Amino acid sequence: MATTICSASSGSLAWKMSKRLLSAALALLLAFGTGCKRHVPTAAPGQTGAYVPPSGPPPAEIWKEFSGEKALAHVKAQCDLGPRPSGSAELEKARALITAELTRNGWNVERQTFTDTTPRGPVTFVNLIARYGGSKKTQQTVVCSHYDTKIFDTIQFVGASDGASSTGALMELARVLSLDPALAQRVELVFFDGEEAVVQYRQTNGVLTDGLYGSRHYAKDLATTGRAKQLRSGVLWDMIGNSRLNITLSPDSPAPLMQEIFAAADALRLRPIFSLSERTILDDHSPLNEAGIPTIDLIGFDYPYWHTADDTFDKLSAQSLQSVGAITLHWLKTTAGQPAKKYVGQ
Ligand SMILES: [Zn+2]
Repeated sequence: MATTICSASSGSLAWKMSKRLLSAALALLLAFGTGCKRHVPTAAPGQTGAYVPPSGPPPAEIWKEFSGEKALAHVKAQCDLGPRPSGSAELEKARALITAELTRNGWNVERQTFTDTTPRGPVTFVNLIARYGGSKKTQQTVVCSHYDTKIFDTIQFVGASDGASSTGALMELARVLSLDPALAQRVELVFFDGEEAVVQYRQTNGVLTDGLYGSRHYAKDLATTGRAKQLRSGVLWDMIGNSRLNITLSPDSPAPLMQEIFAAADALRLRPIFSLSERTILDDHSPLNEAGIPTIDLIGFDYPYWHTADDTFDKLSAQSLQSVGAITLHWLKTTAGQPAKKYVGQ
């Protein structure tokens, strides 16, 4: 984010000018700019310094501020990058988009970088962890998504629903939460890398050795640093863009948390979009639950284009993103993000 510095030649040229010529040149520079990118020492878009916190009271019904259209625009920008498997240049571009949007809205974004062994050899992964308010100690709940796409050698897979949908929605959630700084500082936003298995999910001696790389690393770090005790609940979003959204809750969903989400959905008359999956779904919520953080996976696994070349942008709707965003915001504002509230499941 450093300001670009002009080459020295323009400076030496300036010394040869008369005082009058110099002031004329300065006037021209002020009028038309220097030709150097970002020479003027103001904060560039996306820099934390450019952010001004909102003044006045936060919106009473903050869930109404979530824009499915704005979220969908972020989703499209992710899809437009093409396939975004872990370790790829395209995924670095995705990180740049996410980071710029979050910092623009006052969030500090930490890059949690690590290397893990995969069936295709070592891969360097990067989780993005966003916090609001400058402290790591105020967060009490996590909202998360994976932003990588599964690698395929034979098809062009852009993961519109599987990767991009929840990522774009989480970017919009960051904007909305920043309207309520007290609430925002109680929420940790995490964009996981490496959710997808490089080949397929597999366990060796009961331990997962392919897939969920980012969430496994994040959960391990929380346990090591003691922050696992600080975080009382979590919501994971995955595949939430399907225009015929059916959120298929995994049977391992923590029951008290499921009731809280249902209460939020009831308040917004959105309960019909939920159903219960017969099979347990392995996803990024699994390592968090194992780390003692009750986490629910809001996933639309009832999606015929899953892991096919047809998981494309045209299958998505802004309304689906809006529904999940509003339910989660309602839950954050009335329950999980309440100050000093004890999570009922603990
Ligand atoms: Zn997937």
